[in-house]
This record gives sequence, structure tokens and C-alpha cells, in this order.
Amino acid sequence: MGRVLILSIEEVKNLLEKLLSRYKVYGPVKAKDFWKFEEITNPDEVDLGYISTMLPIKKYFLPPFETILHVKLGEDKEITIKEPEVNEKCVLFGVHPCDLKAILLLDKVFLDELKDPYYLKRRENTIIVALNCTAADEYCFCTTFGAGPFAKEGYDLVLTNLDERGYVLEVGSNKGEELIKAMGFAEVSDEYRETILKRKEEILRKMESEINQKRRIPNVEKLPELLAKNFNHKVWESMGKLCLACGSCNLVCPTCYCFNVVDKFSINLREVERIRTWDSCLLLEFAEVALGGNFRRERLARFKQRIYHKLSYFIEQYGEFGCVGCGRCIRWCVRKIDPVKIVGEIMEKPVPLS
Ligand code: SF4
Ligand code: SF4
Repeated sequence: MGRVLILSIEEVKNLLEKLLSRYKVYGPVKAKDFWKFEEITNPDEVDLGYISTMLPIKKYFLPPFETILHVKLGEDKEITIKEPEVNEKCVLFGVHPCDLKAILLLDKVFLDELKDPYYLKRRENTIIVALNCTAADEYCFCTTFGAGPFAKEGYDLVLTNLDERGYVLEVGSNKGEELIKAMGFAEVSDEYRETILKRKEEILRKMESEINQKRRIPNVEKLPELLAKNFNHKVWESMGKLCLACGSCNLVCPTCYCFNVVDKFSINLREVERIRTWDSCLLLEFAEVALGGNFRRERLARFKQRIYHKLSYFIEQYGEFGCVGCGRCIRWCVRKIDPVKIVGEIMEKPVPLS
């Protein structure tokens, strides 16, 4: 069983200070009317009462814009080739369970048979301190996919807020164990440990039931079959008209991973930068091919592709849903298009399952 510690709010700040003295630390910070994950230099900058950041932590493993190759032809005809250096050791502090689960899904994509070397290096160099959720808003539906409010795996350390008494800290990996040993925090007694873990369980179960009541997809295991039979359901038509194909939902989604690669040449053709950028399946150019062909020219086709990829195709490929119910695609959509409502409408009047 992993180690369990109790940290007062002051001790959490102390932990952050110790981490800051060794690593680059990124955490949730309040911007004007939203939160964002960014580098912190002082423990007071972190807001552990946050609900969701606008951009997910995938930006640290798959940056929105990155030069993956730089080639230069010198005056002496020497060719120099540079690849990105990804040696930074960092800590992601206060990662919510849904975002952690999303990274575990991205691992399936980027660390499969063909490993993405930059993603791999960043994963190896990152320590994850998760933060179980004790608050949610009307968009969260993580419980549908078992992605929250508990972090189940993939963290090095995990914190749970026990209100004014501070936080429970649990160790989830050897990296986390070493970190805690080196920092000299004392473990709780066996007797107290039971009480604390019981209290933590109660807090998170209450949270789980609140989320379930607010927003949930029932019988989610039947979803792929239901969607397959309802490809032409009338709900798609209206959603296809409402959607602006702006692509924001792709950008904020923690499990969207499509990227584009372009070569940018200098005017004298002696230098070229190969750049990888996030892409969006909602954009018209996404499925464009040579000679102007486009196999998803209709907006409706692009809209359906995104939802079907999350709730059906990903499960076929990787055995799990490609959505973690973080709610970002609803929260940040200008039209407030809501996949849970779409599925609800299909469930209400479906083509019957045989
Ligand atoms: S954010 Fe909303 S409007 Fe924009 S592409 Fe996504 S679903 Fe359509
Ligand atoms: S599809 Fe929406 S709710 Fe699901 S993981 Fe992506 S942004 Fe979150």
C-alpha cells in the first residue's frame, strides 16, 4: 500500500517550494475569468480551488506549435540538422483526474508501436502531482467514463482536499516515493490512516454523486452500438447547422491529438524548418487531398466525425472511450453544443437496438 501523509495548507505550500527549488513547476493559475496551467515561481500563484483550465495539460507533451526539425545548408555546403532538445525536468502540480486520464489515453496513441520521441521524452521527464476533484461545474461529466472525481492511476503523488484540515497526500509511484522521502514529510500512523482514507472516500463519493445527478450519459457501454445505428438520426442535421466549424472544441479537448506538419523554407532555400502544429478535424482543409478533393467537405460530416471518433471509433481502436467528460468542448463552444444532449436525444428516440 502506498504511503499516506496529511499536509496542512502551509505544508502544501512548503511542498511546492521544495519542488520549485528542484524543478520547473506548472500549475493552475487564475486568469481573469478562467484558469490556465502555467509556469509558477511562487506557491501563492497556484489556485487549487480551480475547476478546469481552458487548455488542457496535453500542451506540455504535444505543444501547440513546435519546430521538430531545422536543416541548414552552410556556405561551405555543410548541412546542419537540429532536432528539438526536450530535456526539461518538470512537475505538473494539481492535475485533475480527467486530465490525467486524457494523458493516459494519449499515451495509447503516441507510445504505441511507433513511439513519438518528443512525447516520450516529455512523459519521462515529467512528475505528475494530481488533485482529486472536490468541486465541479455544470459541464463536468467525468463520472460517465470513470475518469473522475478520483485519480485512479498514472500519478506520482495525489492530493485530496479535506477542507480546513488540509490535504491527504498519497504516493502513486517510485518517483513519488523518492520525492516524498527526500522532502522529509512524516507519514501518518496506521490508525489515523484508516480514518483519513475513509473521510477522503466519503468526500469523493459525495462529489461523484453530485456530478452524476447534474450531467451523465446513462448506459454508456451501449453507446458505440447505439451511435452506429443512428448515424442518420435527425439530431445530426440540426447540430450540423448550428456548428460554426470554428475548431475551438478540438483545441480545448484534452484527448484531441491531430496535428499538421509543414515545411517552412527561407527565401534563399538554404534553410528549412519543419513545424508541427495542432490541427482540427472541424476545419474544412483537414480532409483536403490532392487536386482539391475533400472527403469531408460538408460541415455535418466533420461535426459527426469528431463525436463518433470520441464515442465510437476510439473504443474500436484502443478499447476505451476517447472522451473523459471534462466538459471543455461545451464550456468553450460559442454555440454551447453539448454531446451529452445529443446522445440524450438519440437515446430518447433511437433506431431500436436489435
Ligand atoms: S466549438 Fe462548437 S461551434 Fe466551434 S466547431 Fe466545435 S462544436 Fe462547432
Ligand atoms: S470531447 Fe469534450 S468532454 Fe470529452 S474530453 Fe474532449 S473536451 Fe472533454
